[in-house]
Amino acid sequence: MIHTKQLTKSFGENAVLKGIDLTVQQGEVLVIIGPSGSGKSTLLRCLNLLETPTSGDVVFEGTSLLAKETNIDKIRTKMGMVFQNFNLFPHLTVLENLTISPRHVKGEAVDVSQQNALKLLTKVGLENKAAAYPNSLSGGQKQRVAIARALAMEPDVLLFDEPTSALDPEMVGEVLDVMQTLAKEGMTMVVVTHEMGFAKEMADRVIFMADGIIQESGTPQALFENPQVKRTQEFLQKVL
Ligand code: ADP
Ligand code: MG
Repeated sequence: MIHTKQLTKSFGENAVLKGIDLTVQQGEVLVIIGPSGSGKSTLLRCLNLLETPTSGDVVFEGTSLLAKETNIDKIRTKMGMVFQNFNLFPHLTVLENLTISPRHVKGEAVDVSQQNALKLLTKVGLENKAAAYPNSLSGGQKQRVAIARALAMEPDVLLFDEPTSALDPEMVGEVLDVMQTLAKEGMTMVVVTHEMGFAKEMADRVIFMADGIIQESGTPQALFENPQVKRTQEFLQKVL
C-alpha cells in the first residue's frame, strides 16, 4: 500500500531521515518505535507530504506522491492522521468535527454524513457526545473523536503519531481499545508509539528507528525478545 524509497529529510543542516526504505502492506499494523528526536514524526508526516521529503520517493497505492501530476489533496483523503494533541476543531461540535471533511471534501450530503458520523461515534463509544464541544471532553474522549473523524473519510490507512502520549494514564486504555478494534477489523495502520504493550500485542511488524535510519525491523517477538542490533538492545533495555 505504501512504500518509501531511500527517503531522506533534512531541516537545514540537520539530516533527520537518512534513507528510509519502508513498506506497509494492506491490512498490516506497523508500529514504529525509537528515541525522542529520531525522526518518527517526520517520517510519518512525509508519508502524506505534511513534510516534503528532501530526496527519495513515497509511493501510495502505486502513485508517486512526488510526481508533478499527483493530486496530493486527493491522496490525503485516503490517509487518515491521528495526532498526539487531537487537533479537533474547537469551535465545532463533535458531530460537526466528523462531518465537515466528508461534506466539504467529498461532497457528501448532510444527512448521509451525519448518519455515518453517528455510527462512528457509536463505534468509539461516544454516541452521546455528538452535540458536545471538544473542550468539554476528556483527553481520551477527544482522541476517540479524532479517530472517528479520521475514519469518517473512509481512509485506506490510518497514521497515528503517539496517540496516547498526551493522555492521563487512566485514559490510555480506552484509546488503545479502539485502535485494537480497528486493527482486528483489518485496517491498515502505521502507529508511532511508546506503548510497548500495544506493539507487542497488536503489531504485525515493529520498526526501530534511531540516528536517521531503520536500525531493525521484525515481528514483535523477534524485535523485543531477540534484538540483533546493539542500538536496539540499548533502547529496549531502557524502555522495557
Ligand atoms: P520524533 O518524532 O522521533 O521525536 P521528530 O521527527 O519530531 O522526532 O524530529 C526529528 C528531528 O527533526 C528533531 O531534531 C527535530 O528538532 C527536527 N525537526 C522536526 N520537525 C522540524 C521542523 N519543522 N523544522 C526544523 N526541525 C525539525
Ligand atoms: Mg514525534
